[in-house]
Amino acid sequence: MEIALRPEIHSYSGGLGILAGDTARSCADLELPVVFVTLASRAGYLRQEIAADGSQVAHDDPWNPAEWATPLDAMIAVGIEGRSVWIRPWLYVVTCPIGHEIPVLLLDTDLDQNAPEDRRITDRLYGGDDVYRLKQEIVLGIGGVRLLQALGFSIGTYHLNEGHAAFLTLELLRRRQRSDPGANRLAHEVDHVRDMCVFTTHTPVEAGHDRFSYDDVRRVLGADFVPLDELKPLAGEDRLNMTRLALNLSGYVNGVARRHAETTKRMFPGYRIAAVTNGVHPVTWTHEAFARLYQQILPNWGHEPEVLIRAEHLRDEDVWAAHKAAKHDLLEAIRRSTGVAMDPDVPLLGFARRMTGYKRPDLLFSDLQRIRSINGRFPFQVVMAGKAHPRDEEGKQLIREIHDWMRALAPGIRMAFLPNYDIALAKTLVAGTDVWLNTPQPPLEASGTSGMKAALNGVLNLSVLDGWWVEACVDGITGWSIGRDGAEEAGQHADALYAKLEGQVLPLYHQDRARWVWMMKQGIAKIPSYFNSQRMMRRYTTEAYVRP
Ligand SMILES: *Cc1c(COP(=O)(O)O)cnc(C)c1O
Repeated sequence: MEIALRPEIHSYSGGLGILAGDTARSCADLELPVVFVTLASRAGYLRQEIAADGSQVAHDDPWNPAEWATPLDAMIAVGIEGRSVWIRPWLYVVTCPIGHEIPVLLLDTDLDQNAPEDRRITDRLYGGDDVYRLKQEIVLGIGGVRLLQALGFSIGTYHLNEGHAAFLTLELLRRRQRSDPGANRLAHEVDHVRDMCVFTTHTPVEAGHDRFSYDDVRRVLGADFVPLDELKPLAGEDRLNMTRLALNLSGYVNGVARRHAETTKRMFPGYRIAAVTNGVHPVTWTHEAFARLYQQILPNWGHEPEVLIRAEHLRDEDVWAAHKAAKHDLLEAIRRSTGVAMDPDVPLLGFARRMTGYKRPDLLFSDLQRIRSINGRFPFQVVMAGKAHPRDEEGKQLIREIHDWMRALAPGIRMAFLPNYDIALAKTLVAGTDVWLNTPQPPLEASGTSGMKAALNGVLNLSVLDGWWVEACVDGITGWSIGRDGAEEAGQHADALYAKLEGQVLPLYHQDRARWVWMMKQGIAKIPSYFNSQRMMRRYTTEAYVRP
């Protein structure tokens, strides 16, 4: 549903879209024969402002496809509520540094041929009600398959990221049945579709799994698109569950980290769930000062990030100088955006991601007295950012509370909340902090990727053991864990966080800079050499796309 292509194209909301963008960038680097399909989302997700009382103000965030993409001359229709809804794609081309290109199709229903309400179907990312979402997923899944065919693509494998595009499996099933009406053996046709489909689930959070009522499906998609007695065994008896549909019609299914694959197996017993741990696109997320440094001794690091394993050869003073440059850029950005002047010599903790309950941005503030006392011994400062979905009341409340706590802790502890977290701001934040904090409620962080971006820039992770960090953390070497794996109740994580900050992280920064820089180099060597999207795409290619 979302792909983050560049800051000016507002067709993404968070980690899922950023991952899709990094996937496209690595596909281009690796010259994989791949085409991406998403919605145009002309109205964007949201542009965030923070009001004086700390509440989020959500504005429209439109972008104009004509400025960044080319309209293609193909048009196809899907049936929605008995009307023909026409879809035209915009073409955006992702180009890698050595020139290979990957097409991205942005589906758009804002056409003269369509009724006014249908023109808005592809407008708003994650907006509207269930029926609006159902229409979007019909456009994405069914429209996507039809457009690819109209444009002359011959697709060997469809890779569904999340259940949003799962209607494409039904379109493939219908085609098989129509091309072979005599046979009419559903099980056989299902097997054929499964051979063509790969499904990656990206979250254990319930709200991430769409369900539609069969009344809505009948009314919007039509009763005979796929007869309900054939559909229900594939998609659920009570409601049409897009995740179930994707699970049942995909021959390869994976979670996005080992821990997440285990969690998914528990949520959906009876399916084979593989694990392909996420990665980030090295060149996209590396500050130019580090990029120059890597280039000197590890040429080709962007294309083949495995070579970063030799980062221990970097000179300490060069690593520290590159970090100072990145931190300087961030402190400038903080000053410009909020007026807060941070101290370059005081460790800066960063926390930025979608603001929502399970990410627990409030964990750090569990005990204000304790924070003040830690800051009294080992001064630190904090920068935060993140948008809340307009209907996520808990997420919006968290943003307000963070602002209350910032006021309560001032002026002793310098803190800033930067509005409108996006790719550009993320790039500055993950490079310019000293410590990247992550405190999700296990096991709800499927993977997480921002910490991988931080590691590319020598920023040390301090995180609860969940998602990717279970695989990457060597405590005291590549970063730090908060609590032991699975040993603590969630309620004990705040204590574990304070103990780690006061006992290890902050004293190390203030008292043993040489060991700190040694850890930065350990993080650079051991994390991005594996947690990159080149390795991720090589694994999808050999294990999911080309199957025995
Ligand atoms: C990387 C990134 C995310 C994902 O962050 P997590 O900590 O993995 O949730 C979200 N939003 C933006 C803008 C990002 O760059």
